[in-house]
Amino acid sequence: DAEIVLLGRSNVGKSTLMREITGHDFTTGGKPGVTRQPNHYDWAPESFVVTDLPGFGFMSGVEEDRQESIKTDIVRYVEEHADAILAGVIVLDGKAAVDIIDRHTTEEEIPHAVELYGFLRELGIPPVLAVNKMDKVDDRDERLNDIADRFGLVPPWEQWRDTIAPVTAKKGDIDALDEAIRVHLEAAKRDDLK
Ligand code: GDP
Repeated sequence: DAEIVLLGRSNVGKSTLMREITGHDFTTGGKPGVTRQPNHYDWAPESFVVTDLPGFGFMSGVEEDRQESIKTDIVRYVEEHADAILAGVIVLDGKAAVDIIDRHTTEEEIPHAVELYGFLRELGIPPVLAVNKMDKVDDRDERLNDIADRFGLVPPWEQWRDTIAPVTAKKGDIDALDEAIRVHLEAAKRDDLK
């Protein structure tokens, strides 16, 4: 089965998004990032497997070396499953992402989300940015253009709808993500026919 991996730091809304995508009611439970095994769910009506890989990036309340080993596990998982992974969905908090990225951009440091984006691309996995919590964003287009820019995608963001998907998971508004995933699904089907 084609697989979709869902990645992102804690509190961006991964669980909420998973619930909307899969229809399963589930809670991650306990501390963020503590679940190290990926959780698999189906994405009806297509038979994708959605794999929740929690806690990439900063996890509050989790020790640093534990964070590192979780990160290593995630990297290993994605590398091992790269051939089957249709898309890597990086979930961002639309309200906070640009500030977090800018704060972590220095000569020695690449922000986790940007690093992860590059890592997926290197493995040939199309990255999709699910920009969540859009209900809290006033200057929608401006914000999405800023996010595009931080990931090296030339604005306007609308030309990157296969990569940038503004969503409000909490209200079930995930059409843009469905559409982005569909583009990659169709592309994968075409590749299979070659
Ligand atoms: P996770 O740690 O990434 O799994 O994040 P959760 O799904 O647990 O969500 C973290 C918090 O963000 C919760 O309080 C959610 O209710 C809230 N949240 C999730 N999606 C949205 C959204 O689209 N809009 C708003 N305003 N809040 C959201």
